[in-house]
Amino acid sequence: MEQIKEVRASADFLVVGGGIGGLCAAVAAKEKNPDASVIVVEKQTAGYGGKANKGGGVLQWFDLEHTKPEDFVQYHAHAVGCYLGDQEVLMKYVAMNNDLLDRLNGWGITIPKMQGMPAGPLTYMVSIDLDSCLKMRKQCNKLGIQIYDKVAVSDLLTVDGKMAGAVGYSLLEGTFHVFTAKAVLMATGSQNYRISNMWSSGRGDGIAAAYRAGAEMRNTEFGNFAQLFKKESLRECVFGENYMYNAQGENVTKNFRRFQESDISATAIREWYEQMSQGKGPIYIRLRPFRGDRKPDSRPYGQAFWNAYQKETEGMDKDMEVVPCLVGEQSPIRVDKDMAASIPGLYAAGDACYCGSGAPGAVPAPPGRNRGSGILNAVFDGVVGGESAAEYVKTAEALTPDEAQIARLKAAAYAPLEREDGVDPIEVIDDIQKILCPVENSIYMSQHRLDVCLRKLEKTKAKLSKLKAHDFHEMLTCHEAEAMVLCCEMQLRASSMRKESRGWFLREDYPLMDNKEWLKWIIVKDVDGKMDLSTEDVPIQNYPVQPIE
Ligand SMILES: Cc1cc2nc3c(=O)[nH]c(=O)nc-3n(C[C@H](O)[C@H](O)[C@H](O)COP(=O)(O)OP(=O)(O)OC[C@H]3O[C@@H](n4cnc5c(N)ncnc54)[C@H](O)[C@@H]3O)c2cc1C
Repeated sequence: MEQIKEVRASADFLVVGGGIGGLCAAVAAKEKNPDASVIVVEKQTAGYGGKANKGGGVLQWFDLEHTKPEDFVQYHAHAVGCYLGDQEVLMKYVAMNNDLLDRLNGWGITIPKMQGMPAGPLTYMVSIDLDSCLKMRKQCNKLGIQIYDKVAVSDLLTVDGKMAGAVGYSLLEGTFHVFTAKAVLMATGSQNYRISNMWSSGRGDGIAAAYRAGAEMRNTEFGNFAQLFKKESLRECVFGENYMYNAQGENVTKNFRRFQESDISATAIREWYEQMSQGKGPIYIRLRPFRGDRKPDSRPYGQAFWNAYQKETEGMDKDMEVVPCLVGEQSPIRVDKDMAASIPGLYAAGDACYCGSGAPGAVPAPPGRNRGSGILNAVFDGVVGGESAAEYVKTAEALTPDEAQIARLKAAAYAPLEREDGVDPIEVIDDIQKILCPVENSIYMSQHRLDVCLRKLEKTKAKLSKLKAHDFHEMLTCHEAEAMVLCCEMQLRASSMRKESRGWFLREDYPLMDNKEWLKWIIVKDVDGKMDLSTEDVPIQNYPVQPIE
């Protein structure tokens, strides 16, 4: 341990994660408070890491000249969020929509005008190219924001319950980094359990660091996003759920949907499971699914990607067998409408806190049945969180972290490397995938199945103290494996606690929405080293939209 090099740096504001949310937060903070020093730490390479460049690029657009934010909030609360949403945060998101798109334009991200196509009631889609994070990195450089690439943040530093910075290590040389800061914003993405390759970058280690520091988590049971995948290529089959047929040629979409919808829902996965259980599978998609916009002149940077994608979809007009695949998307760091977490000086943005913000309600997110809300939500959170943090640092005191805390966190980070021998982190990740992948454990749950999963998880947890890494990359894999175990436990325990079905959350043994008992958020928190779960009433009486009895 002694020979590990150490680097110390300090800033007013530290952003962890250089995806679209983190880069927007850094730029928005610097624009709001040019005197504040800002550092971005990214475990991959800011601009190339994260998800905004992974094949999406569809943004939600509201025609605010003709649609009032409250109209969308009303539709969303009834049809999507199922009254579990924080309607104030959602209202703020919709109201800022046009301003956010203008800001992106101002930061050099071209948004082709009026490609807007309907994406569900009251919402349209516009698109951006796959180089949006590279453009944001350029903005950071222009503003003098310092970026540390290939540095993974392993833990957060606190002094007397307030944020004081973070520690981490370089994936290249293993250098130990200590960052002191008055405010820290976690934009580290969601937990996707490394199941689906395009979503694989969401590994939850930022969520785990916030949890260990004592931050509250909310809606952890909504780590259950799944899509239909083509069995042959194991690629997602967007919009295929509108055209599902069983082996007897029966249209089974009509069992759960009366008209075509713009996004998948958990009910499609439940239908797949029920048809298969009754021996009526496999399930096929019969009609040619929607392929998205790939106009050559609109998004030149990503054109090579779209060409490859297009090639793969050739022949899709014949029947294709589909299977559901868990994608995950747990995003639970609890934040308020200013993106402030429960620890003073800690903020979060984007996929790290989408469900934690309460905005999407009873859906995992993104897309949370809102196509295009992933990137734009990250931009929204980034702008709001960055600006809030920029204000906070004006008056906050710079705290000096305790050296004993730093030494303890350093020892914990490097422990897998110090062990002579031990468990391969891939074995732990494999265990978690085996627990959560079956849709009957994560999408269409029952008490019995959840109890079995929790018992299996205990065995996997026992392996964590024996994790062994051979190099700094594997050390990160160990930390990611630990985060997957933590997130899996939060997901299973909250799912076991919620004894109803609501929105995306489906229980076979509690099939109905229960507004009497379960208009509640489940809050998960570390209390003296133990995971504590409690409930909090949704303040529905303060919101404009009430449940229909
Ligand atoms: C295939 C695919 C298609 C999609 N399509 C769309 C779409 O069409 N429209 C839409 O709106 N959304 C879409 N999304 C979702 C959207 O891309 C995300 O919601 C959004 O990019 C999230 O941004 P973020 O900055 O919050 O998180 P991320 O993009 O996940 O960025 C997090 C960053 O933090 C870094 N990081 C994580 N942990 C640490 C750590 N411990 N230390 C340092 N750095 C760390 C990561 O390396 C990463 O760069 C899609 C996602 C995928 C995967």
